[in-house]
Amino acid sequence: MQIEFTSEDEEFRAAARTWLGENIPAGPAPHDGPASRAYALDWLKRCHAGGWSGIAWPAAFGGQGLTPERLITWYEEYVAARAPSVLDCSFVAVNHAGPTLIACGSPEQQAFHLPRILAGEVIWCQGFSEPGTGSDLASLKTSAVVEGDELVVNGQKIWSSFADIADYQELLIRTEPGSKRHKGLSWVICDMKTPGITVRPIENMAGATHFAEVFYDDVRIPLANVVGGLGEGWRVAMTTLGFERRTAAMGLQLDLSIKVEDLIAMAAPLAGSAMAERLADLRAEAAALRAMTYRTMFRDPATPFDGSMMRLHFGELAQRVYATAMDILGPDALCDNRWSYDYLEAYSETIAGGTAEIQRNIIAERILGLPRE
Ligand SMILES: Cc1cc2nc3c(=O)[nH]c(=O)nc-3n(C[C@H](O)[C@H](O)[C@H](O)COP(=O)(O)OP(=O)(O)OC[C@H]3O[C@@H](n4cnc5c(N)ncnc54)[C@H](O)[C@@H]3O)c2cc1C
Repeated sequence: MQIEFTSEDEEFRAAARTWLGENIPAGPAPHDGPASRAYALDWLKRCHAGGWSGIAWPAAFGGQGLTPERLITWYEEYVAARAPSVLDCSFVAVNHAGPTLIACGSPEQQAFHLPRILAGEVIWCQGFSEPGTGSDLASLKTSAVVEGDELVVNGQKIWSSFADIADYQELLIRTEPGSKRHKGLSWVICDMKTPGITVRPIENMAGATHFAEVFYDDVRIPLANVVGGLGEGWRVAMTTLGFERRTAAMGLQLDLSIKVEDLIAMAAPLAGSAMAERLADLRAEAAALRAMTYRTMFRDPATPFDGSMMRLHFGELAQRVYATAMDILGPDALCDNRWSYDYLEAYSETIAGGTAEIQRNIIAERILGLPRE
């Protein structure tokens, strides 16, 4: 497909490049903890002040309502300028909690939360997975009973990214006692400072503690915090996952091309070896990922499988890119924190947001029309 950029789009590109060049924070982003929160919020505030916040959000909700061409342009410039990763602790708020509230929230919920997200005042996390409930999300057990105008929540979530530094959580719980599977669930805005919440960070193999277990003991949440209606949680959660798997990670996907070019520069002394062939393959695969990402921007958002194809290709390609970095660096990888950290983190790319096996099941059943498992 051919994307047509107008002269106005090119002016937009130049403005984005200039602004990014002048505003990108110096120094690497901290991986976790309060320092990562301060860094991410400071960057969001700077984007907001510069008029670059909410670029994918509709203008009616304070965003920029950019055309697909402009979004592509922004992210191309963003990754080329090596701006902070979009997968930092502001990811949930900006890329799927905010869009979910726009799609399913009440006017009151939108009026309270959306401006705070855009202005870089709050961090959100997601509380969907539980011990024993990941791929099969509909089996979740954390539940609430209605008492007056409140929900009283008990249970446990796990792998909740940035829960230890978050202000709010997208909390998916069972609100109809005895209900089964997709029925009787609710998507609730949970204020992380509510009494009864205990957050216990988990260290991953890269040494970062950016996800956590969250325990709920008689946690009282106003019924006004239910998004999309009591018992409508599955529909709302699918809306959230649609944003999470589809275009939320666009910046990350494009960034992989930059990483491949970095590797090519790094491996120049090995040119002519089998490594050159391997790098050429990675460059082609990263270009294919870019093409898939761009095509998605112009398709009907209801197209269900785009996200699964991109998520799968991105996760597996990221692992190949960082494994290649380890092979180029050899023993020096042990001293190179940047590549070795990304290499270890990349293992999670075929788990988070739905595992590779689950994405393959979706592609098999919904695109290829194979029988359900
Ligand atoms: C870095 C990271 C961040 C995360 N952040 C969050 C977060 O913020 N919030 C949140 O709620 N969750 C989060 N998660 C959790 C993530 O969504 C789950 O780990 C994921 O959905 C898989 O669930 P599980 O770990 O329970 O594995 P399981 O579902 O138990 O799967 C175990 C294995 O069995 C395979 N499997 C399961 N079912 C099938 C099937 N039907 N067919 C074929 N194979 C199958 C899986 O592919 C996997 O290999 C995060 C995970 C990671 C790694």
